[in-house]
Amino acid sequence: MTGDDVVAKAREDGVRLVRFLYCDPSGVIRGKTVHVDRLANKIREGVGLTRAQNAVNMLEQYVPLEGMEPVGEIRVTPDPETYTVLPWLPRTAGMLSDQLGHDGLDWGSCTRTFLKRAISAAEEAGIRVKAAFENEFYLAEELDGKVKPFQDGPVYSSIGMDRVAYVMDDILDSLESQGLEVEQSINEYGPGQQEIAIRYADALQAADNQIKFRDAVRGTAEVQHGLIASFAAKPFADGVGSGAHIHFSLWSLDESTNLMYDASAGDRLLSETGRQFVAGVLDHLPALVALTCPSYNSYERLQPRAWAGSTVSWGPDNRECAVRIASPFRGREAESTNAELKACDPSCNPYLALGGLILAGLDGVLRGLVPPQPALRDPAAMTDVERARCGIQPLPSTLRMALANLQVDDVLHSGLGDLLARCIIAVRTSESEALEAMSAEDARRAHLRVF
Ligand code: GLU
Ligand code: MG
Repeated sequence: MTGDDVVAKAREDGVRLVRFLYCDPSGVIRGKTVHVDRLANKIREGVGLTRAQNAVNMLEQYVPLEGMEPVGEIRVTPDPETYTVLPWLPRTAGMLSDQLGHDGLDWGSCTRTFLKRAISAAEEAGIRVKAAFENEFYLAEELDGKVKPFQDGPVYSSIGMDRVAYVMDDILDSLESQGLEVEQSINEYGPGQQEIAIRYADALQAADNQIKFRDAVRGTAEVQHGLIASFAAKPFADGVGSGAHIHFSLWSLDESTNLMYDASAGDRLLSETGRQFVAGVLDHLPALVALTCPSYNSYERLQPRAWAGSTVSWGPDNRECAVRIASPFRGREAESTNAELKACDPSCNPYLALGGLILAGLDGVLRGLVPPQPALRDPAAMTDVERARCGIQPLPSTLRMALANLQVDDVLHSGLGDLLARCIIAVRTSESEALEAMSAEDARRAHLRVF
Protein backbone atom coordinates (compact mmCIF):
# COMPACT_ATOMS: atom_id res chain seq x y z
CA MET A 1 0.00 0.00 0.00
CA THR A 2 1.25 3.48 -0.81
CA GLY A 3 -0.01 6.66 0.83
CA ASP A 4 -2.23 7.29 -2.21
CA ASP A 5 -3.70 3.78 -1.92
CA VAL A 6 -4.57 4.50 1.71
CA VAL A 7 -6.34 7.74 0.84
CA ALA A 8 -8.36 5.99 -1.87
CA LYS A 9 -9.16 3.11 0.47
CA ALA A 10 -10.21 5.44 3.29
CA ARG A 11 -12.61 7.24 0.93
CA GLU A 12 -13.99 3.94 -0.34
CA ASP A 13 -14.47 2.80 3.28
CA GLY A 14 -16.42 5.97 4.08
CA VAL A 15 -13.84 6.93 6.71
CA ARG A 16 -13.75 10.49 8.04
CA LEU A 17 -11.02 10.29 10.71
CA VAL A 18 -7.76 8.34 10.67
CA ARG A 19 -5.79 7.75 13.85
CA PHE A 20 -1.99 7.82 13.65
CA LEU A 21 -1.27 5.52 16.59
CA TYR A 22 1.88 4.80 18.58
CA CYS A 23 2.69 3.16 21.89
CA ASP A 24 4.61 5.36 24.29
CA PRO A 25 7.49 4.21 26.51
CA SER A 26 5.11 3.58 29.42
CA GLY A 27 2.95 1.30 27.29
CA VAL A 28 -0.01 3.63 26.78
CA ILE A 29 -1.45 3.63 23.25
CA ARG A 30 -1.81 7.20 22.04
CA GLY A 31 -2.24 8.94 18.73
CA LYS A 32 -3.24 11.96 16.71
CA THR A 33 -6.25 11.98 14.43
CA VAL A 34 -6.36 13.38 10.90
CA HIS A 35 -9.36 14.23 8.70
CA VAL A 36 -9.49 12.23 5.47
CA ASP A 37 -9.30 15.48 3.46
CA ARG A 38 -5.86 16.15 4.98
CA LEU A 39 -4.67 12.56 4.84
CA ALA A 40 -2.59 12.65 1.63
CA ASN A 41 -0.18 15.28 2.96
CA LYS A 42 -0.13 14.02 6.52
CA ILE A 43 0.83 10.48 5.52
CA ARG A 44 3.93 11.96 3.90
CA GLU A 45 4.68 14.66 6.48
CA GLY A 46 3.50 13.05 9.68
CA VAL A 47 1.66 14.95 12.40
CA GLY A 48 3.53 17.13 14.88
CA LEU A 49 4.02 16.02 18.48
CA THR A 50 6.01 17.76 21.18
CA ARG A 51 9.23 15.98 22.17
CA ALA A 52 7.98 16.17 25.76
CA GLN A 53 5.07 13.80 25.10
CA ASN A 54 7.17 10.64 25.42
CA ALA A 55 8.21 11.79 28.89
CA VAL A 56 4.59 11.77 30.08
CA ASN A 57 4.06 8.76 32.31
CA MET A 58 1.01 6.47 32.60
CA LEU A 59 -0.38 8.80 35.30
CA GLU A 60 -0.30 11.71 32.82
CA GLN A 61 2.54 13.41 34.69
CA TYR A 62 5.33 15.06 32.69
CA VAL A 63 8.77 13.95 33.85
CA PRO A 64 11.43 16.59 33.14
CA LEU A 65 14.12 14.95 31.00
CA GLU A 66 17.03 16.29 28.99
CA GLY A 67 16.19 15.83 25.28
CA MET A 68 12.45 15.68 25.97
CA GLU A 69 11.72 19.24 26.93
CA PRO A 70 8.49 20.79 25.65
CA VAL A 71 10.58 22.50 22.99
CA GLY A 72 10.89 21.02 19.52
CA GLU A 73 8.63 18.72 17.55
CA ILE A 74 8.74 15.25 16.15
CA ARG A 75 6.49 13.75 13.48
CA VAL A 76 4.11 10.86 14.06
CA THR A 77 4.39 9.21 10.65
CA PRO A 78 2.09 6.31 9.76
CA ASP A 79 3.01 3.09 8.00
CA PRO A 80 0.53 2.70 5.10
CA GLU A 81 0.76 -1.10 5.36
CA THR A 82 -0.98 -0.98 8.74
CA TYR A 83 -4.16 0.82 7.66
CA THR A 84 -7.35 -0.80 8.98
CA VAL A 85 -10.88 0.41 9.66
CA LEU A 86 -11.61 0.38 13.42
CA PRO A 87 -15.00 -1.32 13.25
CA TRP A 88 -16.21 -0.47 16.75
CA LEU A 89 -16.10 3.23 15.93
CA PRO A 90 -18.06 5.44 13.55
CA ARG A 91 -16.19 6.18 10.28
CA THR A 92 -12.71 5.80 11.81
CA ALA A 93 -9.56 4.01 10.67
CA GLY A 94 -6.16 3.56 12.29
CA MET A 95 -2.53 3.27 11.21
CA LEU A 96 0.50 2.40 13.31
CA SER A 97 3.17 5.03 13.27
CA ASP A 98 6.84 5.73 13.72
CA GLN A 99 8.09 8.79 15.55
CA LEU A 100 10.50 10.54 13.23
CA GLY A 101 12.51 13.74 13.25
CA HIS A 102 12.12 16.36 10.52
CA ASP A 103 14.79 14.47 8.58
CA GLY A 104 12.55 11.40 8.41
CA LEU A 105 14.79 9.40 10.76
CA ASP A 106 14.23 8.08 14.29
CA TRP A 107 14.61 10.99 16.68
CA GLY A 108 16.01 8.66 19.36
CA SER A 109 12.90 7.52 21.18
CA CYS A 110 10.78 5.70 18.60
CA THR A 111 9.97 2.33 20.09
CA ARG A 112 8.77 0.91 16.75
CA THR A 113 12.10 1.85 15.18
CA PHE A 114 13.89 0.19 18.10
CA LEU A 115 12.14 -3.08 17.20
CA LYS A 116 13.04 -2.60 13.52
CA ARG A 117 16.71 -2.21 14.51
CA ALA A 118 16.56 -5.41 16.58
CA ILE A 119 14.94 -7.28 13.67
CA SER A 120 17.70 -6.07 11.31
CA ALA A 121 20.41 -7.14 13.76
CA ALA A 122 18.91 -10.64 13.91
CA GLU A 123 18.62 -10.77 10.13
CA GLU A 124 22.28 -9.84 9.77
CA ALA A 125 22.94 -13.03 11.72
CA GLY A 126 20.65 -14.97 9.35
CA ILE A 127 17.69 -15.17 11.75
CA ARG A 128 14.14 -14.09 10.97
CA VAL A 129 12.05 -13.94 14.14
CA LYS A 130 8.38 -14.86 14.12
CA ALA A 131 6.22 -14.20 17.14
CA ALA A 132 2.75 -13.89 18.61
CA PHE A 133 1.49 -12.30 21.82
CA GLU A 134 -0.95 -14.59 23.64
CA ASN A 135 -3.08 -12.22 25.68
CA GLU A 136 -5.07 -12.68 28.84
CA PHE A 137 -7.30 -9.79 29.88
CA TYR A 138 -10.21 -9.04 32.18
CA LEU A 139 -13.72 -7.99 31.26
CA ALA A 140 -15.22 -5.87 34.02
CA GLU A 141 -18.10 -3.54 34.71
CA GLU A 142 -18.55 -0.53 36.92
CA LEU A 143 -21.44 -0.94 39.37
CA ASP A 144 -22.20 1.64 42.08
CA GLY A 145 -18.75 3.18 41.60
CA LYS A 146 -17.02 -0.19 42.03
CA VAL A 147 -15.26 -2.08 39.24
CA LYS A 148 -16.20 -5.76 39.30
CA PRO A 149 -15.24 -8.64 36.99
CA PHE A 150 -17.87 -9.24 34.30
CA GLN A 151 -19.29 -12.76 34.56
CA ASP A 152 -17.60 -15.83 35.93
CA GLY A 153 -17.57 -19.53 35.32
CA PRO A 154 -15.21 -22.44 35.85
CA VAL A 155 -12.04 -22.06 33.79
CA TYR A 156 -12.30 -23.33 30.20
CA SER A 157 -15.95 -24.19 30.86
CA SER A 158 -18.96 -24.09 28.56
CA ILE A 159 -20.74 -22.10 31.26
CA GLY A 160 -18.01 -19.48 31.41
CA MET A 161 -17.75 -19.23 27.63
CA ASP A 162 -21.54 -18.96 27.20
CA ARG A 163 -21.77 -16.06 29.63
CA VAL A 164 -19.47 -13.86 27.56
CA ALA A 165 -20.23 -15.29 24.14
CA TYR A 166 -21.95 -12.21 22.71
CA VAL A 167 -19.25 -9.84 23.88
CA MET A 168 -16.48 -12.12 22.65
CA ASP A 169 -18.22 -12.56 19.30
CA ASP A 170 -18.11 -8.81 18.70
CA ILE A 171 -14.50 -8.67 19.87
CA LEU A 172 -13.51 -11.44 17.46
CA ASP A 173 -15.30 -9.58 14.65
CA SER A 174 -13.23 -6.49 15.43
CA LEU A 175 -10.01 -8.52 15.37
CA GLU A 176 -10.76 -10.50 12.23
CA SER A 177 -11.95 -7.54 10.23
CA GLN A 178 -8.51 -6.01 10.88
CA GLY A 179 -6.75 -9.09 9.55
CA LEU A 180 -5.76 -10.68 12.87
CA GLU A 181 -6.11 -14.47 12.66
CA VAL A 182 -7.79 -15.80 15.77
CA GLU A 183 -6.65 -19.30 16.79
CA GLN A 184 -8.33 -19.79 20.18
CA SER A 185 -10.68 -17.92 22.48
CA ILE A 186 -11.36 -19.23 26.00
CA ASN A 187 -12.42 -18.10 29.44
CA GLU A 188 -9.40 -18.17 31.74
CA TYR A 189 -8.87 -18.76 35.48
CA GLY A 190 -9.84 -15.43 36.97
CA PRO A 191 -13.48 -14.30 37.19
CA GLY A 192 -14.04 -12.22 34.05
CA GLN A 193 -10.64 -13.23 32.65
CA GLN A 194 -10.43 -14.18 28.97
CA GLU A 195 -7.69 -15.34 26.65
CA ILE A 196 -7.42 -15.03 22.88
CA ALA A 197 -4.55 -16.52 20.91
CA ILE A 198 -3.78 -15.11 17.48
CA ARG A 199 -1.54 -16.53 14.80
CA TYR A 200 2.16 -15.76 14.69
CA ALA A 201 3.61 -13.30 12.20
CA ASP A 202 6.89 -11.54 11.43
CA ALA A 203 8.13 -9.70 14.51
CA LEU A 204 7.13 -6.19 13.43
CA GLN A 205 3.67 -7.33 12.43
CA ALA A 206 3.33 -9.27 15.69
CA ALA A 207 3.96 -6.08 17.66
CA ASP A 208 1.66 -4.04 15.41
CA ASN A 209 -0.98 -6.73 15.90
CA GLN A 210 -0.62 -6.37 19.65
CA ILE A 211 -1.54 -2.67 19.47
CA LYS A 212 -4.50 -3.44 17.23
CA PHE A 213 -5.48 -6.26 19.56
CA ARG A 214 -5.49 -4.17 22.74
CA ASP A 215 -7.39 -1.33 21.09
CA ALA A 216 -9.93 -3.62 19.42
CA VAL A 217 -10.68 -5.58 22.60
CA ARG A 218 -10.85 -2.53 24.86
CA GLY A 219 -12.78 -0.43 22.35
CA THR A 220 -15.32 -3.10 21.39
CA ALA A 221 -16.01 -3.96 25.04
CA GLU A 222 -16.43 -0.31 25.97
CA VAL A 223 -18.19 1.21 22.96
CA GLN A 224 -20.43 -1.72 22.02
CA HIS A 225 -21.09 -3.23 25.46
CA GLY A 226 -20.40 -0.56 28.08
CA LEU A 227 -17.79 -2.86 29.65
CA ILE A 228 -14.22 -2.33 30.74
CA ALA A 229 -11.54 -4.55 29.21
CA SER A 230 -8.31 -4.31 31.17
CA PHE A 231 -4.83 -5.31 30.03
CA ALA A 232 -3.29 -4.46 33.40
CA ALA A 233 -1.03 -7.24 34.69
CA LYS A 234 -2.95 -7.72 37.94
CA PRO A 235 -6.07 -5.60 38.01
CA PHE A 236 -7.78 -7.39 40.92
CA ALA A 237 -6.13 -8.29 44.23
CA ASP A 238 -7.98 -11.58 44.47
CA GLY A 239 -7.89 -12.53 40.77
CA VAL A 240 -4.98 -14.22 39.02
CA GLY A 241 -2.74 -11.98 36.89
CA SER A 242 -2.89 -11.59 33.12
CA GLY A 243 0.04 -12.58 30.93
CA ALA A 244 0.87 -11.65 27.35
CA HIS A 245 3.11 -14.62 26.72
CA ILE A 246 5.36 -14.13 23.71
CA HIS A 247 5.62 -17.22 21.53
CA PHE A 248 8.66 -17.01 19.30
CA SER A 249 10.46 -19.06 16.69
CA LEU A 250 13.59 -18.42 14.63
CA TRP A 251 13.66 -18.98 10.90
CA SER A 252 16.11 -18.91 8.03
CA LEU A 253 15.81 -15.72 6.00
CA ASP A 254 14.03 -17.56 3.17
CA GLU A 255 11.62 -18.88 5.84
CA SER A 256 12.11 -22.47 4.67
CA THR A 257 13.69 -23.72 7.92
CA ASN A 258 12.74 -23.35 11.57
CA LEU A 259 16.17 -22.85 13.10
CA MET A 260 14.91 -23.90 16.55
CA TYR A 261 14.02 -27.40 15.40
CA ASP A 262 16.43 -30.31 15.40
CA ALA A 263 14.93 -33.75 14.88
CA SER A 264 17.74 -35.33 16.93
CA ALA A 265 17.58 -32.83 19.85
CA GLY A 266 15.73 -35.22 22.20
CA ASP A 267 16.27 -34.14 25.83
CA ARG A 268 18.22 -31.13 24.64
CA LEU A 269 14.81 -29.88 23.46
CA LEU A 270 16.02 -27.46 20.80
CA SER A 271 18.62 -27.02 18.08
CA GLU A 272 21.98 -25.45 18.96
CA THR A 273 20.78 -22.05 17.71
CA GLY A 274 17.54 -22.37 19.66
CA ARG A 275 19.43 -23.24 22.86
CA GLN A 276 21.84 -20.34 22.43
CA PHE A 277 18.96 -17.93 21.86
CA VAL A 278 17.14 -19.17 24.97
CA ALA A 279 20.41 -18.91 26.94
CA GLY A 280 20.69 -15.27 25.87
CA VAL A 281 17.11 -14.54 26.93
CA LEU A 282 17.75 -16.12 30.35
CA ASP A 283 21.04 -14.25 30.73
CA HIS A 284 19.38 -10.86 30.17
CA LEU A 285 16.03 -11.68 31.76
CA PRO A 286 16.58 -9.81 35.08
CA ALA A 287 16.93 -6.63 32.98
CA LEU A 288 14.61 -7.63 30.14
CA VAL A 289 11.64 -7.78 32.51
CA ALA A 290 11.91 -3.97 32.77
CA LEU A 291 10.55 -4.05 29.19
CA THR A 292 8.30 -7.13 29.31
CA CYS A 293 6.85 -6.71 32.83
CA PRO A 294 7.24 -2.96 32.78
CA SER A 295 4.60 -1.46 35.04
CA TYR A 296 4.52 -1.10 38.80
CA ASN A 297 1.57 -3.49 38.87
CA SER A 298 3.48 -6.10 36.81
CA TYR A 299 5.29 -7.24 39.94
CA GLU A 300 2.06 -8.16 41.69
CA ARG A 301 1.59 -10.69 38.90
CA LEU A 302 5.20 -11.91 38.66
CA GLN A 303 4.99 -14.22 41.67
CA PRO A 304 5.73 -17.92 42.23
CA ARG A 305 2.88 -20.38 41.77
CA ALA A 306 0.99 -18.00 39.47
CA TRP A 307 2.17 -19.58 36.19
CA ALA A 308 3.72 -16.26 35.33
CA GLY A 309 7.38 -17.39 35.23
CA SER A 310 8.85 -15.53 38.19
CA THR A 311 12.35 -17.06 38.02
CA VAL A 312 15.21 -17.21 35.53
CA SER A 313 14.34 -20.70 34.30
CA TRP A 314 13.36 -22.74 31.28
CA GLY A 315 11.77 -26.13 30.80
CA PRO A 316 9.67 -28.31 28.53
CA ASP A 317 6.00 -27.39 28.90
CA ASN A 318 6.83 -26.08 32.36
CA ARG A 319 4.27 -23.38 33.18
CA GLU A 320 6.26 -22.16 36.16
CA CYS A 321 9.29 -21.32 34.04
CA ALA A 322 9.90 -17.92 32.50
CA VAL A 323 10.68 -19.68 29.21
CA ARG A 324 8.49 -22.64 28.39
CA ILE A 325 9.55 -24.83 25.47
CA ALA A 326 6.19 -25.66 23.95
CA SER A 327 5.85 -29.26 22.83
CA PRO A 328 5.57 -29.29 19.04
CA PHE A 329 2.51 -30.64 17.26
CA ARG A 330 2.68 -34.23 16.07
CA GLY A 331 3.31 -34.37 12.35
CA ARG A 332 4.17 -30.64 12.26
CA GLU A 333 7.23 -30.72 14.53
CA ALA A 334 9.56 -28.72 12.30
CA GLU A 335 7.03 -25.98 11.74
CA SER A 336 5.59 -25.75 15.25
CA THR A 337 8.71 -25.81 17.47
CA ASN A 338 8.63 -22.57 19.48
CA ALA A 339 9.39 -21.14 22.88
CA GLU A 340 7.13 -19.02 25.05
CA LEU A 341 8.31 -16.15 27.23
CA LYS A 342 5.81 -16.19 30.10
CA ALA A 343 7.47 -13.34 31.97
CA CYS A 344 5.66 -10.77 29.85
CA ASP A 345 2.34 -9.06 30.51
CA PRO A 346 -0.06 -7.06 28.35
CA SER A 347 0.75 -3.69 29.90
CA CYS A 348 4.01 -3.80 27.94
CA ASN A 349 4.91 -1.70 24.95
CA PRO A 350 5.14 -4.62 22.48
CA TYR A 351 7.87 -2.95 20.39
CA LEU A 352 10.09 -2.64 23.47
CA ALA A 353 9.23 -6.12 24.76
CA LEU A 354 9.83 -7.94 21.49
CA GLY A 355 12.83 -5.82 20.50
CA GLY A 356 14.40 -6.52 23.90
CA LEU A 357 13.67 -10.24 23.59
CA ILE A 358 15.33 -10.36 20.16
CA LEU A 359 18.45 -8.48 21.31
CA ALA A 360 18.78 -10.71 24.38
CA GLY A 361 18.41 -13.94 22.41
CA LEU A 362 20.65 -12.75 19.60
CA ASP A 363 23.36 -11.94 22.13
CA GLY A 364 23.17 -15.57 23.26
CA VAL A 365 23.63 -16.77 19.66
CA LEU A 366 26.52 -14.37 18.95
CA ARG A 367 28.30 -15.39 22.17
CA GLY A 368 27.47 -19.09 21.75
CA LEU A 369 25.93 -19.25 25.23
CA VAL A 370 24.88 -22.59 26.68
CA PRO A 371 21.66 -22.68 28.73
CA PRO A 372 21.56 -24.31 32.15
CA GLN A 373 19.74 -27.61 32.62
CA PRO A 374 16.04 -27.28 31.87
CA ALA A 375 13.73 -27.41 34.87
CA LEU A 376 11.52 -30.48 34.89
CA ARG A 377 9.60 -29.46 38.02
CA ASP A 378 8.08 -26.35 39.56
CA PRO A 379 11.12 -24.29 40.71
CA ALA A 380 9.32 -23.51 43.99
CA ALA A 381 9.13 -27.25 44.74
CA MET A 382 12.85 -27.91 44.12
CA THR A 383 15.64 -28.10 46.65
CA ASP A 384 18.33 -25.39 46.59
CA VAL A 385 20.72 -27.90 44.99
CA GLU A 386 18.24 -28.70 42.21
CA ARG A 387 17.57 -25.02 41.63
CA ALA A 388 21.30 -24.28 41.40
CA ARG A 389 21.75 -27.09 38.86
CA CYS A 390 19.13 -25.46 36.66
CA GLY A 391 20.57 -21.96 37.15
CA ILE A 392 17.32 -20.79 38.73
CA GLN A 393 17.31 -17.32 40.24
CA PRO A 394 14.37 -15.21 41.34
CA LEU A 395 13.46 -12.40 38.96
CA PRO A 396 13.17 -8.84 40.33
CA SER A 397 10.28 -8.42 42.74
CA THR A 398 9.80 -4.72 42.03
CA LEU A 399 9.90 -2.45 39.02
CA ARG A 400 12.72 -0.46 40.63
CA MET A 401 14.90 -3.59 40.82
CA ALA A 402 14.21 -4.37 37.17
CA LEU A 403 15.11 -0.79 36.16
CA ALA A 404 18.38 -0.98 38.11
CA ASN A 405 19.24 -4.13 36.12
CA LEU A 406 18.30 -2.43 32.84
CA GLN A 407 20.58 0.47 33.69
CA VAL A 408 23.62 -1.83 33.75
CA ASP A 409 22.69 -4.25 30.96
CA ASP A 410 24.95 -3.10 28.11
CA VAL A 411 23.22 -5.04 25.35
CA LEU A 412 19.73 -3.76 26.13
CA HIS A 413 20.85 -0.28 27.14
CA SER A 414 22.91 0.33 24.02
CA GLY A 415 20.27 -1.32 21.84
CA LEU A 416 17.68 1.13 23.14
CA GLY A 417 20.02 4.06 22.73
CA ASP A 418 20.77 6.75 25.27
CA LEU A 419 17.60 8.87 24.96
CA LEU A 420 15.10 5.99 24.94
CA ALA A 421 16.86 4.16 27.77
CA ARG A 422 16.99 7.31 29.92
CA CYS A 423 13.35 8.02 29.11
CA ILE A 424 12.17 4.53 30.13
CA ILE A 425 14.12 4.61 33.36
CA ALA A 426 13.03 8.15 34.32
CA VAL A 427 9.37 7.69 33.37
CA ARG A 428 9.09 4.34 35.11
CA THR A 429 10.89 5.56 38.21
CA SER A 430 8.44 8.47 38.44
CA GLU A 431 5.54 6.01 38.19
CA SER A 432 7.04 3.88 40.97
CA GLU A 433 7.40 6.92 43.21
CA ALA A 434 3.81 8.04 42.67
CA LEU A 435 2.26 4.58 42.92
CA GLU A 436 4.23 3.57 46.03
CA ALA A 437 2.62 6.53 47.78
CA MET A 438 -0.89 5.22 47.00
CA SER A 439 -2.82 2.42 48.67
CA ALA A 440 -2.35 -0.93 46.91
CA GLU A 441 -5.96 -0.77 45.73
CA ASP A 442 -5.62 2.75 44.28
CA ALA A 443 -2.39 1.73 42.52
CA ARG A 444 -4.11 -1.26 40.94
CA ARG A 445 -7.05 0.92 39.90
CA ALA A 446 -4.65 3.40 38.25
CA HIS A 447 -3.47 0.61 35.92
CA LEU A 448 -6.87 -0.94 35.35
CA ARG A 449 -8.26 1.78 33.07
CA VAL A 450 -5.04 2.82 31.33
CA PHE A 451 -4.09 -0.54 29.84
N1 GLU B 1 -2.37 -16.11 34.14
C1 GLU B 1 -1.02 -16.63 34.01
C2 GLU B 1 -0.07 -15.46 33.79
O1 GLU B 1 -0.18 -14.51 34.47
C3 GLU B 1 -0.89 -17.67 32.91
C4 GLU B 1 -1.81 -18.83 32.98
C5 GLU B 1 -1.62 -19.76 31.79
O2 GLU B 1 -0.58 -20.42 31.71
O3 GLU B 1 -2.46 -19.74 30.90
O4 GLU B 1 0.79 -15.46 32.96
MG1 MG C 1 -3.49 -18.53 29.63
